[in-house]
Amino acid sequence: MTSAGRFAPSPSGELHVGNLRTAILAWLFARSTGRRFLMRVEDLDRARAGAEAEQLRDLAAIGITWDGGVVRQTDRGAHYAAAIARLAAADLTYECFCTRREIQEAPSAPHAPQGAYPGTCRNLTAAEREAKRAARPAAVRLRSTVTEATVQDLLRGSYTGVVDDFVLRRNDGVIAYNLAVVVDDAEQGIDQVVRGDDLLPSTPRQAYLALLLNMPVPEYAHVPLVLNADGARLAKRDGAVTLADLTAEGVPPEDVRDVLLVSLGLPTGPLEHALAVFDPAALPKQPWVWPGLGGAGA
Ligand code: GLU
Repeated sequence: MTSAGRFAPSPSGELHVGNLRTAILAWLFARSTGRRFLMRVEDLDRARAGAEAEQLRDLAAIGITWDGGVVRQTDRGAHYAAAIARLAAADLTYECFCTRREIQEAPSAPHAPQGAYPGTCRNLTAAEREAKRAARPAAVRLRSTVTEATVQDLLRGSYTGVVDDFVLRRNDGVIAYNLAVVVDDAEQGIDQVVRGDDLLPSTPRQAYLALLLNMPVPEYAHVPLVLNADGARLAKRDGAVTLADLTAEGVPPEDVRDVLLVSLGLPTGPLEHALAVFDPAALPKQPWVWPGLGGAGA
C-alpha cells in the first residue's frame, strides 16, 4: 500500500474557512511528499443530512483533489468491532457504567492527571458488573497501562500528553473517535496526519492505541487554528465564514482560496502554484485571525 495523507471532516455542518485552510495544508503536505490524498467522512456521530455533499463540494471548489472514493466511517463498523475484540482478548478493555456526572463527581485517583477517567469501573468484580448491567448499558474503555505518551509532531516538536482509560465504544454503541481514527488511518495506509492543533491533546492516546493494536503510528503535523477577532476559535456565528455565505456576499471560492494561501505565506492561484514552493518549515506558527470578507465580515 502506498503512503497517504488525508482529510477527515465530520459532516455536522458546513466547513468554515478554518477547516478549508487545514484541508489545503493537509493536501499540500501529502502532495509535496508524493503521497496519495484520501478523503474520509467521519460520520459516526452528529452527522447532518446533506452536510457531506456540501463539504465535498466546497473542498472541490477551492481545488482540493483526492484519490479514490470517499470512505465513510459508518461503513466500517466491522473493522472497529474487530479492533475492540483484539484488545478485549488481550485484557485491554473493560466495561464502564459511569454517567458523565458520576465521572465529574468522582474523587480523582492520586497522581491522576487532570481530566483523566478516575478508574471507577476498572476493577469491578464479575458480580458487580452483572448488577450494573441490569441498570445501564456499558461503555467499553481501554485498560491503559500508561498515564502519558509522547508523540513527535512536524510542526510542534515533541509533545507529551495524557493517556487515560479512554472510551472505545460509547454506551449507546457508537464507536469513539479515538478508536475509529486509529483503525482507519492504519487500514487505509495513512502514514501522515495533518489536522487542526485542537486535536493535539488527543494524539498521545491515539499513538498509544496504535501501538497496542500493532498498527504503525503515522507522522503528525498539527496546524494552527483560525481565530475570530476576539481570539476565540472561528465558528459559524462569526458571520460569513463558509464558502456558501461568502459567495452570497460576492466573494467567489477562488478569492477565499487566495486569502487562505496568503495567510500561509504561499502564492495565490491554483493550489499547484503553492505546491511548487511548499515548505513546512516556513509556515506561520501562530493562529491566524480571520479578517472577515464580504459585507458581513469586515
Ligand atoms: N473528524 C475530525 C474533525 O472534523 C478530524 C479528525 C482527524 O483529523 O483526525 O474534527
